[in-house]
Amino acid sequence: MSVEIRSNVGKMEASIIVSLSDFMKSTHQRPEDSFKHQGMRRKMIADLQAKEIGNARVWEAMLKVPRHFFLDKAFLNQAYTDMAFRIGAGQTISQPSTVAYQSAILEVAKGEKVLEIGTGSGYQTCVLLELGAKVFSIERQKELFDKTGAFLQLLGYSPKLFYGDGYKGLPAYGPFDKILVTCGAPFIPQELVDQLKPGGLLVIPVGAGEVQKMQRIRKLPDGTIEQQTLRDFRFVPMLENKNWGD
Ligand code: SAH
Repeated sequence: MSVEIRSNVGKMEASIIVSLSDFMKSTHQRPEDSFKHQGMRRKMIADLQAKEIGNARVWEAMLKVPRHFFLDKAFLNQAYTDMAFRIGAGQTISQPSTVAYQSAILEVAKGEKVLEIGTGSGYQTCVLLELGAKVFSIERQKELFDKTGAFLQLLGYSPKLFYGDGYKGLPAYGPFDKILVTCGAPFIPQELVDQLKPGGLLVIPVGAGEVQKMQRIRKLPDGTIEQQTLRDFRFVPMLENKNWGD
């Protein structure tokens, strides 16, 4: 795999790109999930349980996904703290508490078709897979789409990944039982609502500024919409009108 380091990416982002592809070249196998990491992960889950963020199925799924695989080695000791980290292309991996919260309110059942908007590092994608979903995920940044696709394959996860525009969803693959948006949307895209099955749920943080309110939209069996406004969050923005290839 070729390593491209653009001179305008930050040192941290460049090191993530290098470390990931370096180990892929050198080992062609999964990175190490040591007892220490597993212990840190159990502590992370215990903290989420104490704060009552998530639910039993979500905690079990998150226990199976080594979050430190998705971060640069430099962050190894913080990988299980409740923080977001830069993953390249100006984007971040969501905080564990956000992943737990969104995954729980999405109420994923085994075998459901879930569309994720914003693949990013692929961490949330893997949690959805561990919940037993068939995952379709769209990423708008080519660099992340390429990097994450190769990495998830190496880990043995098989979501269907797309380089595309989340505002449009995936009409050819829908309708979906659940849709999860992991970036802050200025409004609720009608295309996503259209691609929900009757009885389906759309979880999306909505707000044009830095703070968004989590919205849970349920499409009732008769096709009408029920909307619930939940807690405040801070997500990276859902990109609009971005040039392809930028
Ligand atoms: N689920 C990710 C979170 C990544 S942050 C994780 O666990 O790591 C949100 C992601 O949404 C970023 O990777 C960003 O590039 C992507 N994104 C932003 N606008 C988008 C759009 N219009 N369509 C698809 N993805 C988008």
